[in-house]
Amino acid sequence: MDPAVLREATRIDPAVPFRASSDHLHHTWAQTFFSRPELYVRPRSIDEIRKLVTLARHCRRRLVTVGSGHSPSDLTCTSSWLVNLDDFNRVLEVSPETGVVTIEAGIRLRDLGARLEEHGLTLSNLGSIDSQSVAGVISTGTHGSSLQHGLISECILSLTLMLANGQLVRCSATNNPSLFRAALISLGALGIIVEITLQAEPTFKVAWRQTRRQLSSVLNEWTSGLWTSHEFVRVWWMPYEKSAVVWHADKTDLPLRPPPRLFYGETLGYHVYHNLLALANYFPRILPWVEWLVFGLQYGFKAEATVTEAVEPARSGLLMNCLYSQFVNEWALPLEKGPEAITRLSAWLNGDPATARIPFSADGLYVHCPIEVRVSDSTRNQTPRPFLDPTSPNGPTLYLNATLYRPYLRDPPCKDQYYEAFEWLMRDLGARPHWAKNFLSTRAELKHLYGPDMDEWLKVRQDVDPDGMFLGEWHYRTLVLPGTSSDESDPSSTVMAALPLLEREKTRRKADVRGAGDGMEWIGDRRWETKEELGDQAAAHAAAAAAASAGASVSALEKEKSHPWPEASSLSPPTTATSEESFDLLASGEASIVLPEYDSWVKE
Ligand SMILES: Cc1cc2nc3c(=O)[nH]c(=O)nc-3n(C[C@H](O)[C@H](O)[C@H](O)COP(=O)(O)OP(=O)(O)OC[C@H]3O[C@@H](n4cnc5c(N)ncnc54)[C@H](O)[C@@H]3O)c2cc1C
Repeated sequence: MDPAVLREATRIDPAVPFRASSDHLHHTWAQTFFSRPELYVRPRSIDEIRKLVTLARHCRRRLVTVGSGHSPSDLTCTSSWLVNLDDFNRVLEVSPETGVVTIEAGIRLRDLGARLEEHGLTLSNLGSIDSQSVAGVISTGTHGSSLQHGLISECILSLTLMLANGQLVRCSATNNPSLFRAALISLGALGIIVEITLQAEPTFKVAWRQTRRQLSSVLNEWTSGLWTSHEFVRVWWMPYEKSAVVWHADKTDLPLRPPPRLFYGETLGYHVYHNLLALANYFPRILPWVEWLVFGLQYGFKAEATVTEAVEPARSGLLMNCLYSQFVNEWALPLEKGPEAITRLSAWLNGDPATARIPFSADGLYVHCPIEVRVSDSTRNQTPRPFLDPTSPNGPTLYLNATLYRPYLRDPPCKDQYYEAFEWLMRDLGARPHWAKNFLSTRAELKHLYGPDMDEWLKVRQDVDPDGMFLGEWHYRTLVLPGTSSDESDPSSTVMAALPLLEREKTRRKADVRGAGDGMEWIGDRRWETKEELGDQAAAHAAAAAAASAGASVSALEKEKSHPWPEASSLSPPTTATSEESFDLLASGEASIVLPEYDSWVKE
């Protein structure tokens, strides 16, 4: 560990452990990105989280909170400090009568599900899997598929965040409502969510049924019951077969009935499909045949010929098998635009450019299936709407997800050509990308798509983290942060002056990790490593920090340094109680390690 960090760690709350390791290799679930954080920290208490934040502030490090790493983009990559709350995952309070539950934010959905079941409770809605942390699910706007539900986070009643100044703040619809709306989709950029209070409901079972249908019959039923006849509905579209698997589920009192095992749910089918996808990376033109074979074996070769049914507890029955590593590119658009979106994309993939009206060639392109078609309706939401909610504010939302598998972690050759056209179509239809997934939208586009809501989110973010401790390249690329401009032409040095802790990407390269396939290693700027070049200046600042933490006043010499250095009295005091009412602004610049000026280290 950097001796300067070690020195600080022993000074701040010496009785509180700092559980950090320095050899952690982080990767996303899909192994699309790898990164090697300087420190990987696994706190077990609020005091440990506060010590970590204080230490990061003193040592001028960026902090990234990672849940289960299921977001496939570089959102959670860092060469700085990575925090994981897997050891901060207790259920703190459950009221079986009201269904109100308070948890530590690191708990995974499946562990929460198991604990709630002991009290006769469950979550009302789930997405495809339950491996994610609850805080991660909230932070990116994870959704399931039901017009009777909005985002999974609509069950959240209040959140407690640890801010960059070490202050704990609780927010809800009535306390700090702007912070609440910002934190409901925070992109990890506001602080560390440490506690969550949510509304659960009594456990229920779902009876589900799925069958294969012609795409035309699905589109014909679009406005006449496809999405409204059942509580949960999702559609898997097979573009070359021009058919779709329609799955629907409702609450039931029927006895449990386990689902039948299907082709790729068994070991043989799983590996056969995986190897066919791997072969298709070399011979993409076999993909329509793979679609016919695998989905025929799985769901029947003819429409309506095979029906699969089961009755399961909701916490397992709403999930599905996501199979292999994948790229996912998912967008939210008004539900009524669904038939047009699907008809045009289908035409483009099947060689009918006149109907497609997509200005890119699909020559030689073959893609994977299924394209996931799901819905939600956040207008029914009783909690305040997150500022960055991608769903339609005026009615039901359709989610279209262009999944591409990465067999044996190898990228499919169609990715760039497919996603360029898919994203173009989504933009043409006024759609907004799912924050967790692989999209290429620029900050200017996103600013336009969110308008005043984005401005509000940015304002709250800036208030709670003015130095950019929770920001990285993903945020820089995607958001119009202070010092950036929406025309993408900002000189980077302005951003770094405005947000001195923001971590920029230095480079990305093919991961030099055994078995990483085509995964990329993300490398951040590691600016603190060049501090030695500052020599005396850094030493003087470190000495000043020691003096400040010992209660001494800062010398006149220190005040003259170029890096802002606060009076000892202006350092933010550690807060011990959760603030219900408001949050203080930070004492920025409280540093024991000085970062070099931006221009001296950045490689443009
Ligand atoms: C196989 C698979 C299936 C999926 N299914 C669905 C689906 O059905 N519906 C859907 O909408 N999405 C789905 N996703 C996307 C997934 O739900 C999101 O990526 C979610 O954010 C992952 O949660 P996580 O715990 O892995 O968070 P991570 O990916 O680790 O982090 C996501 C964001 O949350 C932030 N964060 C995490 N913990 C905290 C904290 N304590 N405080 C502050 N910020 C925090 C991180 O900094 C980051 O910005 C799926 C992804 C995969 C890989």
